[in-house]
Amino acid sequence: MTTATMTPPEAAIVKLDPASARTKRTIAFTMMAVPGLGTVAAAWCLWQGVYTATDLWLFAAMYFVHMAGITIGFHRYLAHKSFKTSRFFEGVLLIAGSMGGQGPIMDWVTTHRRHHRFSDHDGDPHSPNLAGPGLRGKLRGLWYAHMPWMLSDENSSWSFWAPDILRDRRLFFYHRTYQLWVAAGLALPALIGFAVEGTATAALTGFLFGGLARMFLANQAAWCVGSLSHMIGGRPFDNGDRSANNWPVAIFTFGEGLQNNHHAFPGSYRHAVRRWEPDLSGWLLTALGRARVVWDLRQPDAATIAKRRAAGRAARAGGTARTRAASAAAGPARTATTRSSSGV
Ligand SMILES: [Zn+2]
Ligand SMILES: [Zn+2]
Repeated sequence: MTTATMTPPEAAIVKLDPASARTKRTIAFTMMAVPGLGTVAAAWCLWQGVYTATDLWLFAAMYFVHMAGITIGFHRYLAHKSFKTSRFFEGVLLIAGSMGGQGPIMDWVTTHRRHHRFSDHDGDPHSPNLAGPGLRGKLRGLWYAHMPWMLSDENSSWSFWAPDILRDRRLFFYHRTYQLWVAAGLALPALIGFAVEGTATAALTGFLFGGLARMFLANQAAWCVGSLSHMIGGRPFDNGDRSANNWPVAIFTFGEGLQNNHHAFPGSYRHAVRRWEPDLSGWLLTALGRARVVWDLRQPDAATIAKRRAAGRAARAGGTARTRAASAAAGPARTATTRSSSGV
């Protein structure tokens, strides 16, 4: 296990020129605002009763495709290589993930690997804990880590963070064709709505519910992983950061909200380390493993988990003792942390 350097090397982060930064901001803002407006329109349709059961099923089915594609495909398969699969199923996962509209795979993977390396320290692209002290700092940090970080004028270097994908022509194909899959993810529910109900209105509401509103709400849940799940929740493991296990976020993001577990064991295909922790993507992967659709599923053994859990308990006890000692001395309470895991 290596200890991460706290200063990002120059090659890790690319500062964009003003024109590129403007383009990045425009695209990011559009991908947040347009689905947001679509959600308002879908809510209006609900209020007015202009919808059918097909629209609700389309929303649920496309939410599943979107979230499974991001969490299983982009995150656990591509960013962390926590299992292997066939070329066909790899394509299914990466196309489904691209439909999420969270950016093409090179941007997603490089940002995510950088997040793991610098988690909650300088260099982390979306930490809620770097915006200063007090409630104001916390709220500002939460907001920044939820959405505005996507408007920053820097990118994570492709060659530094993801040379493995950059030189893989097969994987890079999914990067180059990203826009096509985003469009397909919006067109598909419109087409299904029209095929089932046979009206132009059904095509429009299918587009709103299964396309735009699904994209907006699933991404709001996903962005809570970077914001809420690095601030609020349980911390059984001492990762040297503020990653936390947040159950409500984990339920809506198929297990991703279990950030403390995930930062402790980033290469594991499961984010749950206890059977009852909500990790739908982990459960799906276990089932897919039994069906031999995926294989070589990586996970830590029970002894490793127990050792890390004991270390977490010791660190918490040490922190409490230090805080008490500091209070007794009427000095500022300082909690020392050591980063123990940063690998992807
Ligand atoms: Zn994290
Ligand atoms: Zn991760």
